[in-house]
Order: sequence, then structure tokens, then C-alpha cells
Amino acid sequence: MRAILEAGLPQVGADPGCIPALERFADLLLEKNQVMNLTAITEPEAVATLHLLDSLAVWQAVDLAGKSLIDVGTGAGFPGLPLRLAHPEIRLTLLDSLNKRVEFLREVCSQLGLEDVKCVHGRAEEFAAGHREQFDGAVSRAVADLRVLSELCLPLVKVGGVFLSMKSTDCEEELNAAKGAIRALGGRTERVVDYPIPATDVVHRVIVIRKLSPTPARYPRRFAQIKKQPL
Ligand code: SAM
Repeated sequence: MRAILEAGLPQVGADPGCIPALERFADLLLEKNQVMNLTAITEPEAVATLHLLDSLAVWQAVDLAGKSLIDVGTGAGFPGLPLRLAHPEIRLTLLDSLNKRVEFLREVCSQLGLEDVKCVHGRAEEFAAGHREQFDGAVSRAVADLRVLSELCLPLVKVGGVFLSMKSTDCEEELNAAKGAIRALGGRTERVVDYPIPATDVVHRVIVIRKLSPTPARYPRRFAQIKKQPL
């Protein structure tokens, strides 16, 4: 894992000084994964590439230094936690609807001395009621179709901020289908950035959606409604 991180971190704009913390996080993840379903990726090399370097590559699309960032549906902490470990200046909130995962994240943050990271158990569409347009950025990987995900994430983002949706490169149709939703929620697709994950043949994509105007108060709707009738 160490050699992969040493070679890969400069390629994703991160300082190799964060390697011990990333390794510690990976150890805690793999240890806990033996008794709890956190990740299907269990080889340390694959954790280094497909979890850690993939998460960190988002920085190439947008530099979030000094910004507040919420990771919606963070699961075992991806992409938010690696981003915080490599870029301590971000103000990070990790949000997930599964409490066991949030408890794991609290334990990791405590062990890694990340007292400033907020680990929140909740559903994004409900969390928005008290945290509307409070974040400079929202990021999300592997949570929902972009039409649904936009309604979960864009209400949380300040006007002028960004929503970063991490997808595979075959998401053209999904992106086209989400254009109306993104517009209705006050956003506009600014850029699509494809990036290779170092030490792999995998290319992933981050869709950069800029928030241009406030999200109308009627969004987000209840999840059953979002799912039944995506925008
Ligand atoms: N982002 C992580 C990653 O890429 O490894 C986890 C992906 S996992 C497939 C999806 C996560 O989203 C789950 O942990 C689930 O509990 C969470 N989730 C799904 N819908 C959510 C919602 N409406 N609000 C908050 N979390 C949600």
C-alpha cells in the first residue's frame, strides 16, 4: 500500500506526508470490515487505489482549501475522509443514513485526532431542513442516480458553491437525464472531469455542478416522492 500511495499521491495533488494517517484509516477499515459490512474491496492495494486515490482525485476538479464540505452518503468515509486527511484545511461533515457506519466514522475520527470532523447520522433530504445552503461544497460517490442525488445534495450547497458527483465514465445518459433536475434545483453543470486512478487502468469521472441560484423551498421532497417521481 505504501509504495502505491507514495507514487500516486503527487498525481492527485496530495502531500505524501499524509500517508501514515491514510494507512491507519485503511487498517481500521479492514479490521472493522471483518465484523461489519463496510466495503467489498478488501485487498490493501485496491483500498489504496479504488478508495483512497479515487477519493483524493476529486481535488483535481476543484480545490476546496478552506471550504466547508459535506460528503452525502459517505458510507465508510469515501470520499470525505481521505480528502480531510490529505487536506486538513477543509471543514468536513460526513453524513450517512446508516448509524452503524456513522459510529465507525466517529471511532476513526477519534483515533486519528480529527475532532473537527462532524459525523452525522441522518438522511440528506431531512438534514436539509436545518442546514439549507450552508456548505461551500457537497460531494457524493455511489449513492444514487444523478436526478435523485441532485435533489439530496444541491439544497445543502450555498449559491456560488459546488456539488461534485463522482461517477463512472459511462454516465452520459444519466447526466443528460438529470439536466432538468439540476436546473430546477438552481444548478448548472460546469465541467466534467475524467481522471485516471493512479496505478490502475481505471478512469473515473467527477461532474462539477455549480449552484447558481437558491433551490426552491419545495425541494428536497420526502424520499418516497423523490424516488417515485425524480425531477
Ligand atoms: N460514498 C461511499 C463510497 O463511495 O464508498 C458509500 C457508498 S454506499 C454504496 C451508499 C451510502 O449512502 C450508504 O452508506 C447509505 O447508507 C447512504 N445513503 C443512501 N441514501 C442516503 C440518504 N438519503 N441520506 C444519507 N445517506 C444515504
